[in-house]
Amino acid sequence: MNTPVNLLDFDLDGLAAFCEGLGEKRFRATQLFRWIHQRGAADFDQMSDLAKSLRDKLAGRAMVAGLPIISQHESKDGTIKWLFDVGGGNAVEAVFIPEDDRGTLCISSQAGCAVGCRFCSTGHQGFSRNLTTGEIVAQLWFAEHFLRKHLGTGERVISNVVMMGMGEPLQNYDRLVPALRTMLHDHGYGLSRRRVTVSTSGVVPMIERLARDCPVALAVSLHAPMDELRSHLVPLNRKYPIDELLRTCTGYLASAPRDFITFEYCMLDGVNDAPEHAQALIALVRRHGAEGLRCKFNLIPFNPFPQSGLVRSPLPRVLAFGKLLNDAGIVTTVRKTRGDDIDAACGQLAGDVQDRTRVRERMARQRTVVLHPARAPAPTRKAHS
Ligand code: SAH
Ligand code: SF4
Repeated sequence: MNTPVNLLDFDLDGLAAFCEGLGEKRFRATQLFRWIHQRGAADFDQMSDLAKSLRDKLAGRAMVAGLPIISQHESKDGTIKWLFDVGGGNAVEAVFIPEDDRGTLCISSQAGCAVGCRFCSTGHQGFSRNLTTGEIVAQLWFAEHFLRKHLGTGERVISNVVMMGMGEPLQNYDRLVPALRTMLHDHGYGLSRRRVTVSTSGVVPMIERLARDCPVALAVSLHAPMDELRSHLVPLNRKYPIDELLRTCTGYLASAPRDFITFEYCMLDGVNDAPEHAQALIALVRRHGAEGLRCKFNLIPFNPFPQSGLVRSPLPRVLAFGKLLNDAGIVTTVRKTRGDDIDAACGQLAGDVQDRTRVRERMARQRTVVLHPARAPAPTRKAHS
């Protein structure tokens, strides 16, 4: 018998096509999609208003397969980090960041990353594989429904998704787009396009495709105003240099749900944090677009990890850098570091999973331990039997 299909792999159109293959009408697919994503159901028998004939057809052919959880850590500030097992000794992470007016989930798109940025522990880990659409969506599916139970609410908890976990989302484009569509669809998670952000190190042709296929908010990891320095920090810059990247960003704005691009800039002591770098950024932004490129800057204090050889810029220098940009009319914020006590901050996601041998050992150990006895996650891999 064929392996059952994971229904988390489908956006609504994909699920409709799958159901059509079973001789079922589109509205049945919509019902099924709502059960899975809006109600967190994994067991077809639970889907009470779904025709018995469809439930029978799904049995054995399909399943709703979440990701096994290796660990869950909750920070003092309410941030929760999950480490998911994606097989073959690989693990990926998702982080929930609660704020007064929103709940943000940071999601991974790949196990490891091939871009290899100097300051990123995922980059140092190397590339293992692309996540499937189902594995990308499973992080949201699990987190949303876990959090509703955890917080005792029937309301939606996650209002924003940022593709800022492990991996370069635009190097996993074909799996990313159906996942984004599921996040956005009213019968799925119903998230606003403005509240779903793809963060990229600058894969120019895929930014152009995203503008056509599924425009969502865009964050670009810039980190340097000059090609030589950027190529050193973000090797992909050799392929898609700064001017080309910024021209593409300008073009993206025509279809973007927000009227600005967010530039992320990781502040590295003595590397990219001098006043001259800020001045060069201002000149760069002014050179692009009709009246300068509409953008905001988000300065990220570097989160150190062993063997990076890099140091976080002192806070006064970060603030002075931000002031220069702000004074030039570029809205600039400094990212608050959240979940520091559980290593959930940017670039720390893979902090303790760099060595896959160690991951395997940890996994073996942790599978046998209940990490949060009072609120152990619900079983996540549930095939209909
Ligand atoms: N690959 C994508 C998305 C994942 S990285 C990208 O590069 O945009 C998400 C953000 O975390 C990026 O802006 C990245 O530059 C930043 N980041 C990576 N390592 C970091 C570290 N050690 N300290 C601070 N920010 C880091
Ligand atoms: Fe990959 Fe982003 Fe890390 Fe660079 S910063 S190595 S693109 S995950």
